[in-house]
Amino acid sequence: MNYFLLIITTFLIFEYVLEIFSKYYNLKYLKANLPKEFNNFYSQKKYASSQEYTKENIKFSIYTSTTNLLIMLSIISLGGFNYLDLFLRNFNIKNDILLGVLYFVIIILFNTILSLPKSYYSIFYIEQKYGFNKSSKSLFILDTIKQIILSLIIVSIIIFLLLTSYEYLETYAWFFCWIFLSIIIVLMPIIYINVIAPFFNKFQKLENGTLKEKIQYYSQKVKFPLQEIYIVDGSKRSSHSNAYFTGFGSNKRIVLFDTLLKNHSDDEIIAIIAHEVGHFKKKHIITNTIISIFSIGTMFYLLDFFIKNKLLFDAFQMDYISNYAGIVFFSILYSPINMVLSIILNAYSRKNEYDADKYSVETIDDKKNLILALKNLSVSNLSNLTPHPFYVFLNYSHPPILKRIEAIQNLK
Ligand SMILES: [Zn+2]
Repeated sequence: MNYFLLIITTFLIFEYVLEIFSKYYNLKYLKANLPKEFNNFYSQKKYASSQEYTKENIKFSIYTSTTNLLIMLSIISLGGFNYLDLFLRNFNIKNDILLGVLYFVIIILFNTILSLPKSYYSIFYIEQKYGFNKSSKSLFILDTIKQIILSLIIVSIIIFLLLTSYEYLETYAWFFCWIFLSIIIVLMPIIYINVIAPFFNKFQKLENGTLKEKIQYYSQKVKFPLQEIYIVDGSKRSSHSNAYFTGFGSNKRIVLFDTLLKNHSDDEIIAIIAHEVGHFKKKHIITNTIISIFSIGTMFYLLDFFIKNKLLFDAFQMDYISNYAGIVFFSILYSPINMVLSIILNAYSRKNEYDADKYSVETIDDKKNLILALKNLSVSNLSNLTPHPFYVFLNYSHPPILKRIEAIQNLK
């Protein structure tokens, strides 16, 4: 047997089994009794409903992972990647770069169409049932069309440049691709907030008032150069809430979901903003960017050894060897490394969350505001209060809420 095929299929199954086990443990770990920390925040009835929400999401994700695994294994074993290649070559496209862009476009379209029933069910059945969904079917269709067009444009540009460099630069191609994608990683937050996000949401400046004054007072106190505060209309799709920062140097802006303003007091919002400022002050954002740039560099360096590997192409039953298919196959072969990286990065991110909480506590008037904010956030999002540690280890970028509250309470 082709040992690339052996590595790929073994890992796909291993990853699946690991996921099913962790989800099974997570289901078993749900506690019927409300943790005492949340006594005044949940009625027993609402807590039971939050657990139903968690259960339903886990069961649905087990179902989707199973179908995804079966589809992937069938495509690989039936030579689906080769059929697509032969189909495109039928059109007599002489340019390999164009052929490659089309190859990626079709894979993305296929993926999107495959994931449509999943997102439809998740939004209009699960989220709807627990009162989160605010989206309409027409908005869902419009969103899907916009997402497809945007992702096709972005991916086509990126793939076009990658394939062009592999076609003409040869030995230096990996280096050019690394630099090019690093620039995209650095610019992405700015591109996202200025170009992509406005396609989906309206951003309005926060009106003058006590909240704005409090935020400005806080940012001056901690010497944080805050340029603008925006409110985004997240409530038109979902009642889940969030807040985030974007920007560079002295041009930073904060974006608050309108749902956040509805569910939290001004002091809680300041505590949440202080947590986000903590990520900046402790250089988490810069460190994360540097880590992604280095991991992308390693990936491109390794890609060089596999992009035209005959054995790897045999594993996918390919008739022709090409740079574009090489990139697809390498990304599949690379997934074990990706999984290990994501576990390490999640652990690092959980540590950063404790640090940002600590910063928030040190700079706000009273730590009870941060605790209140976290509790209200997890109640309004019906978060799982008691996830299984193994599930947290694999998937959580944030520590479980009770652990965060405990850490905050232990701070001086
Ligand atoms: Zn955070």
